[in-house]
This record gives sequence, structure tokens and C-alpha cells, in this order.
Amino acid sequence: MNGPETIASLEEFLAHALTLEREAWERYQELADVMVVHNNTRLADLFQRLAGFSEQHAGEVSQHAAGLTLPQIQPWEFKWIDAEGPETGGHDGTHYLMTPLEALRYALHNEIRGRDYYALVAGRSPNEAVRPLAAEFAAEETEHVRLLEDWIARTPATEPLDDLDPPHEPG
Ligand code: ZN
Repeated sequence: MNGPETIASLEEFLAHALTLEREAWERYQELADVMVVHNNTRLADLFQRLAGFSEQHAGEVSQHAAGLTLPQIQPWEFKWIDAEGPETGGHDGTHYLMTPLEALRYALHNEIRGRDYYALVAGRSPNEAVRPLAAEFAAEETEHVRLLEDWIARTPATEPLDDLDPPHEPG
């Protein structure tokens, strides 16, 4: 299959970036929802923040795309690093029994894949307009990787899933 290094036009790059950021946004919403179910408001807030970054990033991509016609890319035609999308985070996906540490590692995996994806395009695209933009995006993802590494370093493996006691049953 063709990899990201064959992305040769700004339109093609922006179409990929838009999909990547929208999928990341969805994934973070899911993670935030999982944490809300477990009353883990700290992590729910973190994942909402990361969802916000993706949303903001998708907005920036749309601005770059203003006036351009982005190609409609079929799922099997995406030029990801491998068959799995870059910021979609592993085959296991989210699940309701994730511990905070598992959720954070899953998110980190997401961000690393996004960063590597943009970095690869930045380094290898034959298009002069694509490379600096991809490098800019890679730098933003690097910030998210750092943020998550920081959280992981401060999260003990034994931290219980629920921050708060479950609400009391009435009566
Ligand atoms: Zn990110």
C-alpha cells in the first residue's frame, strides 16, 4: 500500500489531516465518557481538553483548506503508516473497565501515532507546501505526547478507577 511519503499535494494532505483529527476527537470523547461513568472527573477533564485540541486542529485544517477542493478519500485508500489510522489508537479501543493508567497509555499511543504520521509527511513529502505544514502539526502533536507522558508519570498503576464513592441509593 502507499504510505504517507507519497502524499504529494496540499489537498491530499489536508484531507488526511482532517480525517485524523476528527477521528481523534471522537476517540477522546469516548475516553471522556468512560471516565465520567467512573466519576473520574480529573481524567474526564483531561480527555475533554485533548478532544478540544483535536477539534481546534480540525478547524485549523479547514481554514488551510478554504478555497481548495479536498479529494474524497475512500477508507481503504488512506495513506496511513499502516492499516490502522494514525490517531485512532490501537485495536482494543476504549472499554469501560479501563484503569486511568490504561486510558492514558491508550491516549499516548494515539498521540505518538499522530506525531509520527505528521513527522513522516514533513520529512518525506515531495511537495514544498506540504512539508512545513506537516512539521507544524507534528510539533503540536509533540506537545500532546509530552502532556500525556507527564500525566502517566504522575499516575500510579494502582490508582482506583473511581475517584468518588458511588452516589447513595435513596431511602
Ligand atoms: Zn494530538
